[in-house]
Amino acid sequence: MADFFYQTTPIYYVNDRPHLGTAYTTVVADAFARWHRIIGDETFLLTGTDEHGLKIARAAEERGKSPIAWADEASAWFVDAWSALEITNDDFIRTTQERHRRSVQQFMQAIYDNGYIYKGEWAGWYCVSCETYYSEEELEGDRLCPTHQRPVEWIVEENYFFALSQFTDRLLEWYEANPEVVLPESRRNEALGFIRQGLRDISVTRTSFDWGIRVPWDEEHVVYVWYDALINYATVAGYGSDAELFARMWPGVHHLVGKDILRFHAVWWPAMCMAAGILPPQQIVAHGWLLVGGEKMSKTRANQIEPVALAEEVGVEALRYHLLRDVTLGNDGDFTFEGLIGRYNADLANNLGNLLSRVSTVVSSKCGGIGPAPRDASATAMATISGEVIAEVRRAWQRAAPQEALEATWRLVRETNAALEIAEPWRHDPGPEVDAVLGDALEVLRIVAILAAPAMPETAAEIFSRIGLEGRPDAPGRGALAGGELAWGGYPGGCSVIRGEPLFPRRKAQG
Ligand SMILES: [Zn+2]
Repeated sequence: MADFFYQTTPIYYVNDRPHLGTAYTTVVADAFARWHRIIGDETFLLTGTDEHGLKIARAAEERGKSPIAWADEASAWFVDAWSALEITNDDFIRTTQERHRRSVQQFMQAIYDNGYIYKGEWAGWYCVSCETYYSEEELEGDRLCPTHQRPVEWIVEENYFFALSQFTDRLLEWYEANPEVVLPESRRNEALGFIRQGLRDISVTRTSFDWGIRVPWDEEHVVYVWYDALINYATVAGYGSDAELFARMWPGVHHLVGKDILRFHAVWWPAMCMAAGILPPQQIVAHGWLLVGGEKMSKTRANQIEPVALAEEVGVEALRYHLLRDVTLGNDGDFTFEGLIGRYNADLANNLGNLLSRVSTVVSSKCGGIGPAPRDASATAMATISGEVIAEVRRAWQRAAPQEALEATWRLVRETNAALEIAEPWRHDPGPEVDAVLGDALEVLRIVAILAAPAMPETAAEIFSRIGLEGRPDAPGRGALAGGELAWGGYPGGCSVIRGEPLFPRRKAQG
């Protein structure tokens, strides 16, 4: 049976509209899910919204709304944005849903029953924006939150603690036994650093406000919003409600998170799973921040870019391609409009668009519009290059490096354009030579469409249709190792090739 690949995004906090940073995370997670469907894994993509906590209660109050009315409105922004960005999520969880309340209460109860939650008093510096306590040493300047540069508040409360400190050894053993559990390696080292510093117990309930899920054994308390939020991944996998589903989906879960929430996902969450008696997640991939002019996008700095408007301007697939291709996953990326247009012109207009347009033009003028079959793998250098590229693309996705997968794919596009420039089929009379060169190029277009589909699904489908192939390049299993079609020689020849409008007209670089 195929592997189950369960990909998640963080659930987004509804205090803010979707911006290019959240769009980046979601597009990357979508591309992972799309690749896994193509290689034949049973795949499930989850995203959603995080709707509890003091910050949301205050945001609602400022607008004269009830917290749930505010959450309904804000959650819909995300649903709409992800639909516009071609995100193929199979579910959308909201932490205010009844299914999630039940799951959180069972999860908490299991940890409590296992003896890892106890009552104590807590006092500390709290950032309302992060919904997190900070130690004195972590604060910056005049007691400012290191993430938000805003003053923190001193909060004293009696609440329940999760005995995180008891999990230091088990977490270290888990990291030891699973070298790729956090990718990329720099983030794994960072997470290990947190653990080796020594873990402190964490406060996991609140009594100062009530916009949250009630602690099942003590109704005075609500569950701390981070603790509540992390459990969403288990909720959707059927934790506490569908044992059969849970057995299939868990622990095959792959979290994609920003580096700022690495500690929650790579330290707290696995410990919470261990404490509740379930296996920790299979993998956590942490990306860097998408900066704008060198700064983190934030509401406070008012430098957010609205992703749907940007997609309408440059094309949703050009935007997806740029985000996946130009940010090295794990490092910070810097978004500029000029960078996007530069990449668009270089890779999409001049390379891929040009290859499709010149091949279809010459097939039309020299082959009567009927695409010839490629040469045998043994008779063409393109087959060798394509084999190398396919292997490289597989490895890159495996290592959570979409930028490398696309870079390799475009090497194949460039080599094919170069081969056409040497052979110049447009200068020659129709015949076997011309057919051979064009057949090879059509076969490359078929392979490139499959490899590019996680980033640009509709463009890939358009290429398939223009070179006369039926179905979609991203049909489940088309790129499977066994029985798939990602090998040289799949273009059958004899297909009607369509000369259409340019896929990617050149653009001028201006904002
Ligand atoms: Zn903060």
